[in-house]
Amino acid sequence: MKLLVTGGAGYIGSVVAAQLVEAGHQVTVLDDLSTGHADAVPEGARFVEASITEAAAVLDGMDGVLHFAAKSLVGESVQKPALYWEHNLGGTLALLDAMRAAGVGRVVFSSTAATYGEPERSPIVETDPTRPTNPYGASKLAVDTALGAFAGLYGLAAVSLRYFNVGGAYTAADGRVYRERHTVETHLIPNVLAVPLGQREAVSVFGTDYPTPDGTCVRDYIHVADLARAHLLALDACAPGEHKIYNLGSGTGFSVQEVLSVCREVTGHEIPAVVAERRPGDPAVLVASSEKIKSELGWKPEHPSLRDIVADAWDAVPR
Ligand code: UDP
Repeated sequence: MKLLVTGGAGYIGSVVAAQLVEAGHQVTVLDDLSTGHADAVPEGARFVEASITEAAAVLDGMDGVLHFAAKSLVGESVQKPALYWEHNLGGTLALLDAMRAAGVGRVVFSSTAATYGEPERSPIVETDPTRPTNPYGASKLAVDTALGAFAGLYGLAAVSLRYFNVGGAYTAADGRVYRERHTVETHLIPNVLAVPLGQREAVSVFGTDYPTPDGTCVRDYIHVADLARAHLLALDACAPGEHKIYNLGSGTGFSVQEVLSVCREVTGHEIPAVVAERRPGDPAVLVASSEKIKSELGWKPEHPSLRDIVADAWDAVPR
């Protein structure tokens, strides 16, 4: 297929773009490089440096869009909600309009567990209430809602994938390594690995008084290679007039302390940790049920072990 990958110079988008190229698709990456890296665009993909509001210029003749380009920092979204509504919702509506005009009827959307907010039960299933606790999650949920409406009104074929905590790195068939490298890094695993890399003194543990076995937050970590494969399955599962929503996690929760232990084991570094205040808006436990995507699309994580996720992230860092 001829596919447009928005945000394909970012961490997850670049891995998906690489897997699409490997699968023989004709890939165009559209990215404004606000947070992405031009050298993350896979060889074999065409790269267009532009915003999603300018997508009309490249949509002619496309069979589908995989849409990753977004603002994704929860804390920033609380400080600058308008920025998140403008980019994530406004930008996506502009993209969907341009798709309609160009007759491109298929989209796979990068959604998030943040659409659920504070869950009432664990693991979370797709029919659970969506009550986001920050503008980032709210803006992604608004897009999910719009996709449902566009499917009903215009026959759009849409799939939203709600990611839980993504980690690890992907080594493509040509040996090229795709890894996480955010300029502003808020995620746990890269922040922990920054200590043995000599980029920070210690890791802050945000809250040790949560109602969890060791008092630290529990999250569901999924390997980026497994997550990316789900997008290829979703692309095939797109059906005109339908909007499907799938959670993507490994189904197992690990606490911040457990992540720290695994990082210490993998790196052989003691990694000092200091207890810090809770981070506003962090739910105690976020674990996905991925039963729906397993049963409907046949997805299965190949790297469900946290150790593999951490080891792949660690091995991918050039040093
Ligand atoms: N966390 C932490 N220290 C850090 C970064 C994150 O203790 O330097 C905690 C955070 O409070 C949350 C968990 O690790 O409980 C996962 O956070 P992350 O930002 O990786 O993902 P999120 O669950 O927010 O999407």
